[in-house]
Amino acid sequence: MTTQQPEHIQSAERPDARPVDRKVVLVTGASSGIGAAVAARLVAEGHVVVAGARRTDRLRALAGSTAEAAARSGGSLHPARLDVTDRADVAAFVQDARDHHGRVDVLVANAGVMPLSRLDSLLVDEWDRMIDVNVRGLLHGIAAALPVFAAQGSGHFVTVASIGAHEVVPTGAVYCGTKYAAWAITEGLRQELDPSVRVTTVSPGVVDSELADTITEAGAAEAMHAYRAHAIGPEAIASAVSYALAQPSDVDVNEIVVRPVRQR
Ligand code: NDP
Repeated sequence: MTTQQPEHIQSAERPDARPVDRKVVLVTGASSGIGAAVAARLVAEGHVVVAGARRTDRLRALAGSTAEAAARSGGSLHPARLDVTDRADVAAFVQDARDHHGRVDVLVANAGVMPLSRLDSLLVDEWDRMIDVNVRGLLHGIAAALPVFAAQGSGHFVTVASIGAHEVVPTGAVYCGTKYAAWAITEGLRQELDPSVRVTTVSPGVVDSELADTITEAGAAEAMHAYRAHAIGPEAIASAVSYALAQPSDVDVNEIVVRPVRQR
């Protein structure tokens, strides 16, 4: 297959802005929260977005709700069923996108789960789930996209980590452990990679989403209710991703931390 080059487009949302590259952007965990906001923002900016998650009904609804913006910008949203814990699934997600769109410019590794609990609750299956989605899922994406980026001589990895990649709180030992790992893996990737491939870690603070719905331990759920009172909208994280993508190709935004002003 021949590898196409990104097109130059004028953003319909920002008609006076300089032309931006129309990129093929893959977003994991795009069926709700931050991933859905990132996908919608990038479609509105004219990018070709392949939106992956298990809940394909949600992805189809997102394609519907972004159709008008897509028509204005020339962008598009393509739903794709994806389970990031399945290595073959992630490989097919990346390969199918490349086959259909000719190239893959960006992989936003966003899919995540956060069933917080104290370690002495011994919710070991939930620990495994966090490791599978938040760490193995990220690694599966890197394994699938690295050869594509190497062959193209360009690409951009964006990892959605967390404030939990920078500090640990009670009930967050395993979740924060997975996010420290995501941070470390992404930083190691940055150091190893050829400079033609960019790497960005975005670490959100508390953001309004469905993330806390995975908490089953009553105490952790109660604490999270108060903690999330000052949550900001997922669009704030979409702006950060958009900013990183929009930089000139010789500029790599390595890390962005975005949290509510009222979060300490
Ligand atoms: P949501 O629960 O709203 O979104 C999580 C997304 O991950 C969903 O789209 C879900 O899709 C997807 N997902 C979960 N498991 C899998 C899987 N096995 N395969 C594919 N997709 C999966 O939460 P957020 O939007 O908040 O979370 C997005 C990211 O942001 C996560 O990595 C989270 O850790 C991080 N984050 C969030 C913060 C917050 O306060 N909201 C703060 C810091 C970081 P589906 O179930 O359809 O597969």
